[in-house]
Amino acid sequence: MLLALQKVDQEIASLRKDLDSLPAEEAKRRKKLDELERVASEKKEKVVKNELDVRALEKAIAGSDAEIKKINERLNTVRNNAEYQATLFQIEAIKKDRDGTQDECLKLLGNQETIKLEYTAAAKAAADERAVFEQFQAEARKLEQSRNGAIAVVQQRRAALTEGIPPDLLTDYTRMFGTRNALAVVACENSYCQGCYNKITTNDLARLMGGSSIVTCGSCQRILFLQK
Ligand SMILES: [Zn+2]
Repeated sequence: MLLALQKVDQEIASLRKDLDSLPAEEAKRRKKLDELERVASEKKEKVVKNELDVRALEKAIAGSDAEIKKINERLNTVRNNAEYQATLFQIEAIKKDRDGTQDECLKLLGNQETIKLEYTAAAKAAADERAVFEQFQAEARKLEQSRNGAIAVVQQRRAALTEGIPPDLLTDYTRMFGTRNALAVVACENSYCQGCYNKITTNDLARLMGGSSIVTCGSCQRILFLQK
């Protein structure tokens, strides 16, 4: 009965094998996608900020130009040389400031193309990765669905098999199946445990041959049966 149960449990374990690795694989892929999307959004912010900065500088330049024009007009109305010189100084100061702003603005405009290209590349990398991730998710869900269906069918067979097995023995078997690499019940062949290949004692062999009690391997604790 335990052997039949073990066969079913091995079937379930093999159906679950791929499923167990899915969450870790999905988390790994999601992390990669998140990182690419974070980079893309950072690049986009850079483009937007650059555009806003350019606009602000252009506005400042236009403001300076208007001011220079206004002061230039005032030059015609000054009455003495001192006032004339002072006004010229004022214009020079504004012009200097304006030229500095324009240099800065030209520098930002020069960067614009590069950061836009960087953003486009980053956005494409993120979009490509998202497509791959979504494909993976769809396949993972499909696999889960089909495997869970198959497992449910085997579980029904399993439930029928556990009936009639003493609860204590079933508990021992279940624990062993989990900790002994899906092999809790093994044959004893020519006095050797086929789970760990250690020799069993003469006493245990006699008990096995007696066939009236559960005999476990003294080395690996697996449940033994006599190979006929
Ligand atoms: Zn053993």
